[in-house]
Amino acid sequence: MKINDHVYRLDSTKSSNCFLVFDEELVLIDTGHAFVGKRMLKEIQEMNIAPTDIKHILLTHHDIDHIGNVRWLQEITGATVWAHEEDIPYITGTKDRPGFKKYIGKLAAKKYIKDIEPYGSNMKVGNIQIIYTPGHTPGHVCMLYNDVLFAGDLVEHKRNKLTPFPNAWNWDTQKLQQSIDSLKNTEYEWVCMAHGKPCQQRITID
Ligand SMILES: [Zn+2]
Repeated sequence: MKINDHVYRLDSTKSSNCFLVFDEELVLIDTGHAFVGKRMLKEIQEMNIAPTDIKHILLTHHDIDHIGNVRWLQEITGATVWAHEEDIPYITGTKDRPGFKKYIGKLAAKKYIKDIEPYGSNMKVGNIQIIYTPGHTPGHVCMLYNDVLFAGDLVEHKRNKLTPFPNAWNWDTQKLQQSIDSLKNTEYEWVCMAHGKPCQQRITID
């Protein structure tokens, strides 16, 4: 799905959306469920992109439906992988995920990677602004690229509505709501969340 000339949702990753951003360097946002890996690579190649064209992989957070192909993609692209420092220990396997995610996380043990760069505070990767939005996980981030907001699991898009991510999956729902609130003055046209179809709506809490 083409969002604009510079941003594409990889349609093979609908179960947990991943996005390509044609910034000065090519950027992949999130890596989807492990089971979409091969299809995702095929889709990328059908766009006449070589895996090694991808220079950065930006992770919104540590959940396994977002890091499912990170290890494999790091190997075949040689890209720099980035995540927030609060979430990095779950991706490298040095910390167990909190609550029931501990057990789901164990299933992803083979995906642990060692080399991840932490986002600095108020940081940009190329022209993509990283916005710290904790709540769904301790180190969840959103990203802003021109008028496109990549929202990760801050919200989901269901039945034409953007709603805060459901409580049961959140590390701290109150913090998630504060993070949503912190975006109220941010200007954007598109919201590209991981779960649901990218849309032109504002994120609100009601
Ligand atoms: Zn998710």
